[in-house]
Amino acid sequence: MPTQPPHGSSAEPPVPHVRVAVIGGGFSGLGAGARLLRYGIEDFVILERGADVGGTWRDNTYPGACCDVPSNLYSFSFAPNPTWSRSFSPQPEIQEYLRRCAREFGLLPYLRFEHEVRAARWNDAASLWELETSRGPLTANVLLAGGGPLSEPSYPDIKGLTTAFEGEIFHSSRWNHGYDLRGKRVAVIGTGASAIQFVPQIQPRVAHLDLYQRTAPWIMPRTDRALTGTERALYKAVPPLQKAVRLGLFWGRETFWLGFNGKHPGMVKRIEGIARMHLRRGVRDQELRAKLTPDFTIGCKRILLSNDYYPSLEQDNVDVVTDRIAEVRANSVVTADGVERPCDAIILGTGFQATDMPMAHMITGRDGVLLADAWKDGMAAHQSATTAGFPNLFFVIGPNSGLGHSSMTLVIEAQIKYAVDAIRQMDRHDIADLDVTRAAQDAYNARLHAKLDGTVWVTGGCDSWYLDSRTGKNTTLWPDFVWKFMWMNRRFSPAGHRARRWDQVREPRPTAASVAAPTEGV
Ligand code: NAP
Repeated sequence: MPTQPPHGSSAEPPVPHVRVAVIGGGFSGLGAGARLLRYGIEDFVILERGADVGGTWRDNTYPGACCDVPSNLYSFSFAPNPTWSRSFSPQPEIQEYLRRCAREFGLLPYLRFEHEVRAARWNDAASLWELETSRGPLTANVLLAGGGPLSEPSYPDIKGLTTAFEGEIFHSSRWNHGYDLRGKRVAVIGTGASAIQFVPQIQPRVAHLDLYQRTAPWIMPRTDRALTGTERALYKAVPPLQKAVRLGLFWGRETFWLGFNGKHPGMVKRIEGIARMHLRRGVRDQELRAKLTPDFTIGCKRILLSNDYYPSLEQDNVDVVTDRIAEVRANSVVTADGVERPCDAIILGTGFQATDMPMAHMITGRDGVLLADAWKDGMAAHQSATTAGFPNLFFVIGPNSGLGHSSMTLVIEAQIKYAVDAIRQMDRHDIADLDVTRAAQDAYNARLHAKLDGTVWVTGGCDSWYLDSRTGKNTTLWPDFVWKFMWMNRRFSPAGHRARRWDQVREPRPTAASVAAPTEGV
């Protein structure tokens, strides 16, 4: 039974308490749950605002949604899947993989669906986080934030978009499958990783497609293929074989970092050459090719992979529009040159709020400081994991943990390892809370940003979601080999942290509580 934490009044119903509250039921939350259980920590819940696990792989159901990292690498190291159908898996398979992980790792009793976390406040006197969820309050000693940086859609600020337009409008990550695109005039805004996947899928169906491109992306060939039955049988029968393939993919991708670090311009030119050749092969029309030629160094924005995007843009029913959108009217989009193009539907492939983590607006730390205010000059954390003034809050995919060249599952596992190790050390030494010092955080970030300054993300002449629009600082990416991130996070180091023992906490310690209620439907 859940216990009542010390701050609850006797007249109120008891507020459930857990040792660890995990936010998000995607790769991060499920990975965290699996590792907590592995170390015998059972007093936790995974709070998920949706009705299923999967996170971004549940939400992004747009036609053609696929991973652009090979599946043998884009999966948990402890849960290889010998049955992937392709080298780069489609969204439904990844979603199913995560459902299976939830079942097989025994996470169903810990999942709380449709529990949206609306606020989290640190109570210093009791050493716990007070959470408000859509299903009521909850307290936790440790908060593990795994909500994902690409979970909140970014809606463009275009005149008339939300007020004047009378047709159908939706974001790529909130695809309206009930809306039939057949025979419709469709405007697509954005040419990022999502748009280049769904545009070739919808182009044959629609009457006309206007693709509004602000910046032409670099696109490389996609080396996707179906895995043979023999390969799958071998992976199943000889698991080390799949591990070896994963290792090969890992080290192969590590070399990509050399193209991003700003020290190998020759290598960058060669990669750009391959992408230019891909464009020449995909688009014969010279005028269109000129529009689709990027004007920044490759790698500055995420490098996209597609074999069907360029050919789809040469079809008669597609126009690539590069003039700035001036306004949206009831049934049309008007560009700055005054041209009005009629449309029945607008699809926003405009990305996510990555640098302004929406969660930061609802987390209040020590002394009542809102995380968004602590981060007013940009997101910052110690080792991407903890932020000064927010004790016992651990991020999974925290600031500067993103990758431009490898699998985010590696980062996710590394950050979970770090957080769970911190929890185990706290348990071992009877520590109530840990708070990184401002000095340690600043010193870490000074080193990190010195490294970032030379990278193509900063010097490549582009504006991307990697950069904070307020400061121009890169607050999202990890500027080094992935193995170094994994090594740094292999265990929690208490250096640079203030630790408080339970006997130093003013209010009595809440006793452990278990919250086990089997979850249906996964
Ligand atoms: P994105 O890469 O951020 O692209 C957004 C697009 O919208 C860009 O072309 C951007 O133009 C455009 N845009 C934004 N605001 C606009 C405005 N006001 N007017 C006109 N155009 C506007 O978003 P995304 O394609 O959804 O991808 C986001 C990230 O999700 C990716 O980088 C990747 O990390 C991840 N993703 C991964 C996969 C995968 O296969 N694993 C698939 C999809 C997405 P500018 O370039 O000029 O800013």
